Formats: sequence, structure tokens, C-alpha cells
Amino acid sequence: MPVLEIVGPQHPRRAASAAAPAEGSALRRFGALPAPKLEWTAEVERETAHLYARIRNVVPPAEWPFFAPYVHAINRLKRERNAVILAHNYQTPEIYNCVADFTGDSLQLAREATKVKADIIVQCGVHFMAETAKVLNPDKTVLIPDLKAGCSLAEAITGEDVRLLRERFPGVPVVTYVNTSAEVKAESDITCTSSNAVQMVESLGADKVIFVPDQYLAKYVASQSRVKIIAWKGSCEVHERFTGDELALIRENDPEVQIVAHPECPPDVIAAADFTGSTAHMIDYVRRNRPKRVVLVTECSMADNVQAELPDVEFTRPCNLCPHMKRITLPKILDSLLNMREEVTVEPAIAERARRAVERMIYLKS
Ligand code: SF4
Repeated sequence: MPVLEIVGPQHPRRAASAAAPAEGSALRRFGALPAPKLEWTAEVERETAHLYARIRNVVPPAEWPFFAPYVHAINRLKRERNAVILAHNYQTPEIYNCVADFTGDSLQLAREATKVKADIIVQCGVHFMAETAKVLNPDKTVLIPDLKAGCSLAEAITGEDVRLLRERFPGVPVVTYVNTSAEVKAESDITCTSSNAVQMVESLGADKVIFVPDQYLAKYVASQSRVKIIAWKGSCEVHERFTGDELALIRENDPEVQIVAHPECPPDVIAAADFTGSTAHMIDYVRRNRPKRVVLVTECSMADNVQAELPDVEFTRPCNLCPHMKRITLPKILDSLLNMREEVTVEPAIAERARRAVERMIYLKS
């Protein structure tokens, strides 16, 4: 069924950051390490050869000598710092395949964040993901290599907006997509990801829910469930740019191509797709079906990462780059580990309430 109502501001506002870290506090606790020499040597070539083998079909040999010294230094520093790197599916192949300890979509990374044994988590993704890692690991140090790695969805709604929604729709529970600040999660009954949004909406046993902040994911959930949805007017700047017309043109030119879309896309895009699912489900779909040619209607790096794993599948564009995800680079990850920046913190009172909403999702039995 269609969503009941879409509410929200005409112009997105920046959500309040949960807490500003005391500048340099992680650096004071752990100290800085000397910068390594970043040279393409025989030793670096030998010790990174197995990593280059993972990405050789998406990264040309001429580029590897620039990446390899960083990869080598970062992997050594992770051991020295007792740190792990969590990398989202939208990270570039040299990060995703060569320095990450855990990869996945938001749900997979949130789950991994609960099991981490290291002292330091470096989040190669965007700010709300680093906040989620901190919320789930209050005693660990969480770093993000670039504090400006934001998200148009997370910036579309504030905690105050959720409080106003609750006043306007009294008694209606709030399901919040994980692409939000900790402050917004703290005002929510439960969080969800694009992997489990329908399940989380139905888990509350209500006939109506407020679903924030992605209007397109809300529409997708409404199409899959009998629960009535009140949506918020947020959107992902990467996925909302795809159109049904461009996919129709691709299909016309190549009737055999498989089109696999993310549910943050507009409804006409989802209607044109053969399969719709979270990034993890999109990858599983390609792994299981091994189409000859496929369009992944999502962020560009994901196609590169799946291409690295499945060289026999041909990935056809279009794709759109997420400018926020692309702020994370190997030099910034190295700087993060050397100089312990940028630390992400969340006010304890907000973190405790946000944790309840996230853990309710993580531990819900399917
Ligand atoms: S792809 Fe969209 S939802 Fe994901 S981080 Fe970028 S702007 Fe946010």
C-alpha cells in the first residue's frame, strides 16, 4: 500500500552532532607514532602481493605501486595499535580488499562492531556508522579518517524532529533507519537497515509506524507490508539520482541484462529492477545468480568490489559516486592510525538510549 503521509522540512537541516570530542584526547591516550617511509620496495611488493591478487582485475598494475606502501604501512600499524578497520561496501577496492578486517553493509558492520576485541576501531564509512560503532563499544576508541564524511540522509532529520513527530502522532512507534545520528536513534523505538526494514517495522506489532528518514525506503517498506507507514522527507543524494527512464533505456539496448537496485532508489527505479535489496543482499544475488551482465543501481565502488571477486560477471554502468564515502582514502587512514584522529564520541546519555534502539534490532530473532 502507499505510505499514509510524508512529512518533513522543505529544506534539509544539519542534524546536531551527538558530541564534539575533546580535541586530541585519543592522541593524548595513545600517543603519536612516527610516519613510515612510503616507498615501493621489493619488500613491500613481496609482502603485499597476495593483497594485490585480490584486486588485480579492477586496479591496473601501474597503480599498485602507489597504493601498496600505504597498504603495507596501515596493516603494520593496525597490529601495533591493536586496531581493526571496518569498511562499508562503498569503500574503494584497495581499502575494502586490502586493509579492512570486516566489510559489509550497515547491519553487518553494526554486528561486527559488537564483537570487536581490539582497542581501536577505524570506521571506513561515514560519520553515523562511526557513531554506531561507538554506541555499541563505549569503552573503545573509535576513529573516522575524515570527520566530514557525512550523509544526506543523516542530515535530513534531528532528534527534535522526532520528538515533534511523536507529539503529532501520539502512540505511534518510531522505526529509524541506521543512516541517522545517535541523537535521532536515541529518540527511536528501534532501528533498521535496508536489509531488515520490513522485518523491523512488523516486529513492533503496530498497525501504523513512523518511519524515518528515507522516504523511498519507506515507500518500499509500505509496498511490502500491511503496516501503515508515515514517512519523513529525507533521501539519499546518491540513490535518488537514478531514474526509471535510464534503466528502461539500458534494458531496451540489452534485454538480457540483470538490474539490481537498492531500496533507497525512487519507486520507478525499483519497478524497473529484477531484484531489490540492501547492498549485502545485492551482492548475494549476484553471487548466487552469476548473471552475464548486471547493473548494480547503487554507489560505484560496490560494483568494483564485486567485480574483484567475480571476474566472470560484466558490470554495466550507470552508478553514482557517494562524495562522503569517497572522503576516506588510504593516506587519511594512515594518518588516522598514526595521529589518532578523528575521534568520534557520543554523549553517554544519548549513547545509552541509542544503544537500546540499535540492540533491539541486532538481537531481534528472525
Ligand atoms: S550513499 Fe547515500 S545513504 Fe549512503 S552515505 Fe552516501 S549519501 Fe548517505
